[in-house]
Amino acid sequence: MKFLIPHIAAIALVAGTPLMNAAEPSITSKSFGTTTNGTKVTLFTLTNSKGASVTISNYGGIVTSLKMPDREGKFSDIVLGFRTLPEYETKSPYFGCLVGRYGNRIASGKFTLDGKTYQLARNNNGQSLHGGLKGFDKVVWEAAPLMTKQGPSLKLTYISKDGEEGYPGTLTVTATYTLTNKNELKLVCRATTDKKTIVNLTHHSYFNLAGQGRGDILNHIVTLKSDRFTPVDKKLITTGKIASIKGTPFDFRQPTTIGARINEKAEQLKIAKGYDHNWVAAKLSGQLGVVATVEDPKSGRVMEVLTTAPGFQFYTGNFLDGTLTGKGGKIYNFRNGFCIEPQHYPDSPNHKNFPTVVLKPGQTYKNTIIYRFSAK
Ligand code: BGC
Repeated sequence: MKFLIPHIAAIALVAGTPLMNAAEPSITSKSFGTTTNGTKVTLFTLTNSKGASVTISNYGGIVTSLKMPDREGKFSDIVLGFRTLPEYETKSPYFGCLVGRYGNRIASGKFTLDGKTYQLARNNNGQSLHGGLKGFDKVVWEAAPLMTKQGPSLKLTYISKDGEEGYPGTLTVTATYTLTNKNELKLVCRATTDKKTIVNLTHHSYFNLAGQGRGDILNHIVTLKSDRFTPVDKKLITTGKIASIKGTPFDFRQPTTIGARINEKAEQLKIAKGYDHNWVAAKLSGQLGVVATVEDPKSGRVMEVLTTAPGFQFYTGNFLDGTLTGKGGKIYNFRNGFCIEPQHYPDSPNHKNFPTVVLKPGQTYKNTIIYRFSAK
């Protein structure tokens, strides 16, 4: 497939293989098959000037592969995922996807806006999780590839109908991925509505900086720029408290391995089987800033996470249990990947003390997320 490339006119694009060498940014596409509903799905591979690449499916906006260099310059795929579309359709624990309309949990799937109560599907242990039964991770987005000055890019658009999955308002959503020439995977999510509604979009890659399928992530060293988090009850629903992390295993202000305290007997760790919580981002609200740094000492790969969101979920793959076989026949066991999902706090519609997630007609919701890679 050929694409219009406004900035670098000389690049030819062909389905499957890039025509240019790795130093020339490129975008290629190929079929990823057809959904069970009969919609054709495409896989786009963006390659930047450093030879790093990301493959994105317009089903769910899923990052199916992300290849970044280690300290020796050796590329590995550092995200968990499947080889085929049917696997994503039937058994994915949100591998690599765009999450919406509301990322994370809403208690009993219920919220009230202007005196009207809305009931969402209770798709997770009696709660609403990640947008319901057919969230943005399970819809086919319209895709427009584009070469930009920053690097190859893919703009995904989805119009969610008024009432879809129980949410009010027609929501027009764009999610633009750019693989910058500085080895950043940048995602800008935007949404507008024609009726007052709620929205909380995020990205859900499971990373293993050593390479996907290469064991657990317990030796990864994490630094989180945050001194507060939102504790959960036994149903993994936020209690509404914003608690200090001081003196708890949730204090990652100094670089600490994920495994150092994950098995301690702290109540919050027991409830979630590890880390699966929202941290409050310590930065000026709405400003883009680094909220997390993760380093794999073995490969030297480092990932910084930047966002404009007021918080981020740090999830350590506690529900992976060896029953899923991913790319290259790799079996994904307990804690074989971690997610950092920049977003609003969970269950915000039901907590007035949390930043608002209400979107009104005329406003534009925006969440910028950057996963920035380097090696040391
Ligand atoms: C949540 C986990 C959930 C997982 C689903 C994460 O964002 O925090 O609790 O199990 O998504 O794969």
